[in-house]
Amino acid sequence: MLRLILFGWVLACVSGLKWDRLWTMLLTGLTAVGFAATHGWLLVAWQGWAMLAVLIGVPWFLEREQRRQDKQLRQLQQAQAEQAMRLSESARAVLSVEGSAQRFERQIGELIELYHVTKETTRGLHAEDLFRSILDLAPRILHVNALRLLDLSTDTPRAYRANANEDGQLIFKDQGAPDATEAAVLESVAATRPDSPSAQAVMRDANLVEWAWTVLWQEGKPIGALAAEGLAGPQEPTFGIIANQLRLQLSRVRLYQQVEALAVTDALTGLFVRRHFLARAEEELTRSRRHNLSCALLMIDLDLFKQKNDTHGHLVGDVVLRSVAQLLQKHLRDVDLIARYGGEEFVLLLIETNGEQALPVAQRLKQLVEVHPIQAYDELLTQTISVGLAIYPNHAHSLPELIERADQALLMAKRSGRNRVVMS
Ligand code: GH3
Ligand code: MG
Ligand code: MG
Repeated sequence: MLRLILFGWVLACVSGLKWDRLWTMLLTGLTAVGFAATHGWLLVAWQGWAMLAVLIGVPWFLEREQRRQDKQLRQLQQAQAEQAMRLSESARAVLSVEGSAQRFERQIGELIELYHVTKETTRGLHAEDLFRSILDLAPRILHVNALRLLDLSTDTPRAYRANANEDGQLIFKDQGAPDATEAAVLESVAATRPDSPSAQAVMRDANLVEWAWTVLWQEGKPIGALAAEGLAGPQEPTFGIIANQLRLQLSRVRLYQQVEALAVTDALTGLFVRRHFLARAEEELTRSRRHNLSCALLMIDLDLFKQKNDTHGHLVGDVVLRSVAQLLQKHLRDVDLIARYGGEEFVLLLIETNGEQALPVAQRLKQLVEVHPIQAYDELLTQTISVGLAIYPNHAHSLPELIERADQALLMAKRSGRNRVVMS
């Protein structure tokens, strides 16, 4: 029996270390009851009570110790888990900082590119220059299949086109009147009111699925549009900035063209520019027609001027060109017209002058130039000219024809040895 009690007690101790508390209590209780029932007579002396105390106390103590250690272990595990969590949060934070740094780096890169777009576009003087400068830089910031600048700043709309090659590089294709797609974009532009919410935004249309565009406004009027094929949503802000830059530069180009159109004199020679001459000559021709008057058109070209440039340099060439121009002008009447027609070519219209009067004038001018010494920096030079002459109405009835005839006469003068006058 004692063996059974000892076995129960060992089990109670094991249970204290390993099993549930209930098992320990049960086994300890059974052991104690077993002991009391079989060895109750021992309880008359204190040794019996001591044995009972050992029977009950040891499993209880082991169980308590075990529970204390379990609790410590759990606390340790919890602390470790918390630490791991904090670590993973820190790692996540580091990663997100890294991600933000990359994002910032990309944004800075884009801003630098946009700055270059701004810088490059300020140089162009024509819409095509502007468009080309965008093409050089846009591929690094704008990823589209095709780009169109639709220019409305002149009398007739013009489209400047570029398509992306396999590397995503936008290559200038051509320019011309708007095609069907571009015309559809322009229709939508015309229908957009400047004060509508979409006026400044990137616009799309169900009929032009692949295309997106934005209107370029100037003082409430559309001066053009920038359209792109295959523009992704996240690219819209970049597209908007480029469009805005184009808008500013297109306004500037337009202003330049207006000023250019207003300019009547050539900067180097001080003579009229060709365009102004043509307008004034047309008026004179109309007047001559009305009053049955003659007039003479002279085409003058400097002889072997390229040689002069090649030998003495362009700066010296410029002085020679200016001297000849001023010499010719000085010896004309105020009513006559003289203009720089091209590089080293001049055109003259002698008013109320027939062939008989014009030929000696032309000869005199040729002579004057030939003998005129030109001081150009350290060089003392001379220059000769060839002259082609045509008379209205003898040789032609319209200004273009008259110019054509004088040009042919000039060619004859060149062919027959230069430094001479040839009448048509
Ligand atoms: P030709 O007698 O057959 O006319 O011979 P050329 O050498 O005068 O003719 P060509 O047309 O070959 O050369 C014209 C030269 O005029 C070439 C060009 O460099 C020069 N030129 C045109 N405009 C200017 C200018 O504004 N300044 C200077 N320095 N040279 C000019
Ligand atoms: Mg020449
Ligand atoms: Mg020439």
